Amino acid sequence: MDLYEYQAKQLFNRHGVPVPRGGVAVTPDEARSIAAELDTPVVIKAQVKTGGRGKAGGVKPAAGPAAAEEAAGRILGMDIKGHTAHSVLVEEATVPFEEYYAAFLVDRANGCFLAMVSTEGGMDIEEVAATRPEALTKVPIDALGGVDGAALARTAGLPDAAAPVLDRLWRVMVEEGALLVEVNPLACTTDQRIVALDGKITLDGNGLFRHEGPHGGQAAREAGRPVGEREAGCPVGEWAERGDEGDGLEARARRRGLNYVKLDGQVGIVGNGAGLVMSTLDVVAQAGAQPANFLDIGGGASAKVMADGLEIILSDPDVRSVLVNVFGGITTCDAVATGIVSALELLGERGRARPIVVRLDGNNAEVGRRILSDARHPALRQVSTMDGAAELAARLATAGA
Ligand code: GDP
Ligand code: MN
Repeated sequence: MDLYEYQAKQLFNRHGVPVPRGGVAVTPDEARSIAAELDTPVVIKAQVKTGGRGKAGGVKPAAGPAAAEEAAGRILGMDIKGHTAHSVLVEEATVPFEEYYAAFLVDRANGCFLAMVSTEGGMDIEEVAATRPEALTKVPIDALGGVDGAALARTAGLPDAAAPVLDRLWRVMVEEGALLVEVNPLACTTDQRIVALDGKITLDGNGLFRHEGPHGGQAAREAGRPVGEREAGCPVGEWAERGDEGDGLEARARRRGLNYVKLDGQVGIVGNGAGLVMSTLDVVAQAGAQPANFLDIGGGASAKVMADGLEIILSDPDVRSVLVNVFGGITTCDAVATGIVSALELLGERGRARPIVVRLDGNNAEVGRRILSDARHPALRQVSTMDGAAELAARLATAGA
């Protein structure tokens, strides 16, 4: 999960990486007060999860509070590569004497961590890498040995003052569970201070429980819960909630702890377990239709999880039929069936609009099927085999299309 620049800088600050003083504003008026408080010239920076803000006009200097208000007014609401700036970072302006580039990342191809450092930061690092590869130092990092900031700075031609900052950036990587920590530019001021003027951090989604937030680190400890344990359907933490903004279906599903993926066909797919869901996609395609999306409700398919899942699937206007394919295991088919029935009750009219084909097999399948047929719900169709269910769902989705 990518963090905003201001969040990355909060983590930098926590680990002793120097960042300019500043604050986040969501209105021009707030930008004015932050600038007044800083009492220095400032820069106003669009907070969007994409690079190239400078070139797009999303980074503007302002001499004082009035100019800050004006600049924030122009940046807030701005669209940068499809991302809307809902907030701006108002920071003490720093005059860079030199601009470097520093990044630590997971190098999946080589199965290790990689440090990338250059004295030519500030602009497109991709361009430096393409046109002058010798200007970008790449050093593999031994996961256990870690980074030697002094050696890295020397190899890349950065001043000695950068060494402790590189060491601390590596600590951010390790201690925050990041897949990427990138600073561009890492500025050197005229008085030889090293300051991170920009920051990009991608956290490992599997480690989000380690972060502070309603379900993470501190909150878990206070609640006497083991850190990392969370209830099904709960968002993974404060970072995730702040990061998963937007009302897209994928974000909504994520907030409810569901794995939902949008595709471009007509059959909505709900299943339990990644393997079963993947093979369901295949049989739907074999039956001549395309999946509109898929949702893995995982092992514990409670009524609530099933209701959330069906609600999300049915919110997709592309869905013309739904295929629920569940193999009862620890969660038995009768529990899943009860879940489907309560889900349809919760959904009311919305649950009636499109046909829902259900295939239940495995533990307690007979009982589950009876619960569904007893419900006599107009949208429900049952088929006992996976291929048969896929064929019916495909036929219903393409009929009249
Ligand atoms: P990006 O374009 O999205 O990577 O945004 P950056 O945060 O890197 O900002 C773009 C450029 O603005 C940087 O390369 C800097 O040269 C410049 N910049 C950012 N912050 C400051 C600042 O405080 N003072 C000055 N003078 N320039 C800045
Ligand atoms: Mn940058």
